[in-house]
Amino acid sequence: MLKGVAASEGIGIGKVMIIEEHSLDYTPKDVSDTDAEIKRYQDALEDFCAETVEQAEALKESAGAKEAEILEGHIQMAKDPMMDGEVTGMINDGKCAEEAIDVTYTKYMEMFSQIPDEMMKQRAADVKDIRTAMLSILLGVKTVKISDAPAGTVVVANEVTPSMTAGINKDNIVGIITETGSQTSHSAILARALEIPAVLSVENATTSVADGDQVIVDGSEGVVIANPSDDEVSEYTAKREEYLKEKAELENFRGQPTKSADGTEYELFCNIGNPEDAKKAMAADGEGVGLFRTEFLFMDRDAIPTEDEQFEAYQQAALTLKGKGLIIRTLDIGGDKEIPYLGLEKEENPFMGFRAIRYCLKNKDMFKSQIKAILRASAFGDVRIMFPLITAVEELREGKALVEECKAELKEAGFDFNEDIPVGVMTETAASGVIADLLAKEADFFSIGTNDLTGYTMAADRGNSDVAYLYSPFQPSVLRMIKSIIENGRDAGIPVGMCGEAAADPKMIPLLISFGLTEFSVSAPSVLKVRGTIAKWTKDEADKVADKVISMTTEAEVLEYLDSVV
Ligand code: PEP
Ligand code: MG
Repeated sequence: MLKGVAASEGIGIGKVMIIEEHSLDYTPKDVSDTDAEIKRYQDALEDFCAETVEQAEALKESAGAKEAEILEGHIQMAKDPMMDGEVTGMINDGKCAEEAIDVTYTKYMEMFSQIPDEMMKQRAADVKDIRTAMLSILLGVKTVKISDAPAGTVVVANEVTPSMTAGINKDNIVGIITETGSQTSHSAILARALEIPAVLSVENATTSVADGDQVIVDGSEGVVIANPSDDEVSEYTAKREEYLKEKAELENFRGQPTKSADGTEYELFCNIGNPEDAKKAMAADGEGVGLFRTEFLFMDRDAIPTEDEQFEAYQQAALTLKGKGLIIRTLDIGGDKEIPYLGLEKEENPFMGFRAIRYCLKNKDMFKSQIKAILRASAFGDVRIMFPLITAVEELREGKALVEECKAELKEAGFDFNEDIPVGVMTETAASGVIADLLAKEADFFSIGTNDLTGYTMAADRGNSDVAYLYSPFQPSVLRMIKSIIENGRDAGIPVGMCGEAAADPKMIPLLISFGLTEFSVSAPSVLKVRGTIAKWTKDEADKVADKVISMTTEAEVLEYLDSVV
């Protein structure tokens, strides 16, 4: 079994077709007729653009207009005056077109790949794709045609480039395996758009299998099984059918409100880490954002983002959401989330240390600039503020006082914002669970962060395999904590959501319906599944299940019972 990145879900079983990279070796030569060489380069560029337009058309048909834009972008990049000027300059200096393209494009590839940003890395991959295409044209190398692949083919390649993807006939290609790429690379985006199961970054994929081998691609789990046994083929065929059936059924929930079987409506929001994710949340049919993890805006850079930079990000998300709820969590750093330039000292016990709201309340300038950025974005949508890791009422009070201070300063400076912006608490510590009644009197909403709540209630670090058996939201202590938080919020008349992973767990959902949760915030791909699960339960049935569960003594008992009813 080979492991890789689960980049496009689903299961494919088929025969391997290895896409080899053809040699693009050339012998550099000096040219004297530079005009003729420039014409050779320009002809190649024209051929490239014409081919790419055709590929983009094909991709528009098979994957969609947005995906085709990736290839249209290649034309712009190839014609970019800087790059084009450098290639022409080198030819004018007597270099052949192959060398001029090779040297120039390689320089840009290296430049983009050195910038620690996923988008720039992607740009480097795009330039590489254009370089391959241009050199292939000049050298007369025939590029592989995935379009000729027979039905039931699993494409195995070092990398699947956008131009290769354009030739994919999705009726014939049942899986994609590559040696490079991540969740966010173009190959992953395109595989998802084409709904082809894909596992990327599988080490030595092209040498671990041979043309014609049977292979299973499990794009949901990131697993590849080469030359499977008959039992494995039957097992995965059944899994595949189950997956397809469930997927077709879930599509019926697209565009529908989120409702229990007896008609109670719920909010079904998404968790995001940047403004781009807000688009994914909307495309996935999310009804808002229940957790914007703003620490991602602070990572992968070497200085704190300014108020304006943050405002732009929050505003962009708010505009994308068009008035739908957007809960922005203030900076949650420390613990496992490091931001090197903040120079946080190494702590004996980082999860219990100087992190999240504790750090922000001691670094008021930075905190205020984030709060102001969020407030300014509140003029563009239904923006709400949420504080992480609250353990005491004073922290909430201090945070709220800062929000008031920021409002006064913004007003003075003439900025618009929502005067009544809701300020909520992320209930994710044992302390906040125990004093949920006190916090509920002063918070506008709660959102339960089960990822941390489980760890802090059980005093178990999920990263530590020796104690991982304790890390479960189905432990009676965690379930009681969740119930108490929801009930205390409900008694105080404030909405209670859940943004930890447990919110998407089909076993947890009936309990949450029974306890009275009002909003579920989950990852974008889980939206339809959660909506489908909520639709299965009436309050009465959920109450029966929850009553039983809450009287149980052990996690094993709880899970065994829930497994039998969901
Ligand atoms: C949580 O703790 O449950 C949560 C959603 O926040 P994070 O995973 O970012 O800590
Ligand atoms: Mg947390």
